[in-house]
Amino acid sequence: MSKKYNGHCACGAVSYGFDTPPTFVANCHCTDCKRASGGEMATFGLVPASDFTVFSGETKSFSYGPSTETCAGKGLDRVFCANCGSRLFTNNLRDFPDGVFVQQGTLDKLDDWFAPQAEIFTWSRESFMPALDLPQFDHAPQ
Ligand SMILES: [Zn+2]
Ligand SMILES: [Zn+2]
Repeated sequence: MSKKYNGHCACGAVSYGFDTPPTFVANCHCTDCKRASGGEMATFGLVPASDFTVFSGETKSFSYGPSTETCAGKGLDRVFCANCGSRLFTNNLRDFPDGVFVQQGTLDKLDDWFAPQAEIFTWSRESFMPALDLPQFDHAPQ
């Protein structure tokens, strides 16, 4: 099975897809995204939960929040492959009940990445990381 945009984890067990281009794409510099990804930031896009389908594989999730200092907001679950641990998407978003945040690093094709529209939680951006020429939000976007 596939949709217009598809992704998978490192071991390939978990695959997913969606048809709707994300309505919001951000580089998040929050400390939760650092911890979950192992990098300075995470890039994710918001897609409708009704359009997001997991085709295969077993996932596990871990709940974050509530926190006003990270993108967890009122709370959410970060979902990863039960076998290889790749962080794939975020669901049960209490702030966006009809949405799923897709981690763009798991998309099948590099050409499928959507350019970020904003950088968020920049209060915890490392000082060595330059800002992109985009709207900057020290916490959640208004
Ligand atoms: Zn995997
Ligand atoms: Zn974050």
